[in-house]
Amino acid sequence: MLDYGLTEYQTAIRDLAREIAAKEIRPVAMEYDRDAKFPWPVVKVLAEADLFRVYIDEKYEGLTDGSPIMNMVIVTEELSKACAGIALAFAGTALGTIPIVLSGSEEQKQRWLPDIAAGRKLAAFALTEPQAGSDAGAVRTTAIRDGDHYVLNGTKLWITNGGEAEIYTVIALTNPAKGPRGASCIVVEKGTPGFTFGKKEDKLGIRASATRELIFQDCRVPAANCLGREGTGFITAMKTFDVSRPGVGAQALGIAQGAFDLALEYACTRRQFDAPIGSFQGLRFMMADMAMKIEAARALVYATARHIDRQPKERPTLYAAMSKCYASDVAMDVTVDAVQVFGGYGYMHDYPVEKFMRDAKITQIYEGTNQIQRDEISKVLISNFHSRVSKARAA
Ligand SMILES: Cc1cc2nc3c(=O)[nH]c(=O)nc-3n(C[C@H](O)[C@H](O)[C@H](O)COP(=O)(O)OP(=O)(O)OC[C@H]3O[C@@H](n4cnc5c(N)ncnc54)[C@H](O)[C@@H]3O)c2cc1C
Repeated sequence: MLDYGLTEYQTAIRDLAREIAAKEIRPVAMEYDRDAKFPWPVVKVLAEADLFRVYIDEKYEGLTDGSPIMNMVIVTEELSKACAGIALAFAGTALGTIPIVLSGSEEQKQRWLPDIAAGRKLAAFALTEPQAGSDAGAVRTTAIRDGDHYVLNGTKLWITNGGEAEIYTVIALTNPAKGPRGASCIVVEKGTPGFTFGKKEDKLGIRASATRELIFQDCRVPAANCLGREGTGFITAMKTFDVSRPGVGAQALGIAQGAFDLALEYACTRRQFDAPIGSFQGLRFMMADMAMKIEAARALVYATARHIDRQPKERPTLYAAMSKCYASDVAMDVTVDAVQVFGGYGYMHDYPVEKFMRDAKITQIYEGTNQIQRDEISKVLISNFHSRVSKARAA
């Protein structure tokens, strides 16, 4: 790996996450995948190792050392090398926490962040609905003010950590007449009357992660749970993705690296035609391409995470979308090729490489599909071009 100038703290959390991945995740990854079990024992280990603290400010019992997003990326990548489904208990919690970090008041941060930092409570982020996927502005869940409360009605679809998390950051319409401009981000805690969960989804990959519907039926939530001003929920959601998408890039990176490590070892040990299969140019070139793509993805994901930490006031939409989109495409390419390196054995559940291929697919879909990322990237490029032209004309 290239020298990415990790700090002493970042090297320490990387090594810690790597050790946990090797000792606590890799040995159980296939079992958790097969049985679609939520990884509570691993969550406990991560909490005891203080890894949920790495993206939460010191003021709220976190331990960021000034680099929350880079730290989140490093830990996510290491855990995903062993099992992206298990890693999602960590990464999905980060996604659910970011709206509180970005838009919460001091009081709200003091109320929810210490429990998340300690790993006592997991979090989840709820935007998607049956009719509102890529078109996130089409959400219909309502949160209508009634005295000191909001009354929530509606359904959120496919929510990561759904049913397992205690803290949900939910996008709902406080002023339905205004559409997305009438959306707010509201924290709903598990156990609130009127808040229930649908069945756990049976999935292709990331099977250790829990994905469930959230159902709100006349669910009364204190008005004090609204993050930021009413009507700013959609902006909070978009700003959240700006920060969280490098985290999906990191999941993809871990998946790609995990599959590549297995493929390289197999290519060096499996023999055909009286020689290791890795001695054949057809496979050597394939592996060279896999390694190049992984390193390029890592450079982009790390640079984006660092940029977000160093320029917190800038909107990193362009690079966040690029790093998520590029790294997830790399993960898909690399894991398909890793299965190819394993030949027929790669197709069998007995070997872990097919699991990486199944896990990779979701990184091209969630937090905005890669078509949506390309749409956003091109929109920013075109808009930047037009503002350069008008500035030049005005000069
Ligand atoms: C396992 C899993 C976990 C998830 N976790 C969460 C979560 O924690 N929180 C949450 O809020 N959501 C979550 N989601 C939802 C996820 O973000 C959405 O599935 C995703 O945004 C795509 O929406 P959709 O599935 O409705 O697809 P659609 O929007 O219906 O898209 C279908 C296809 O059409 C394409 N398409 C749509 N619009 C355009 C366009 N304008 N230009 C080009 N192509 C387009 C898409 O790229 C896609 O290929 C999760 C989903 C899954 C499967």
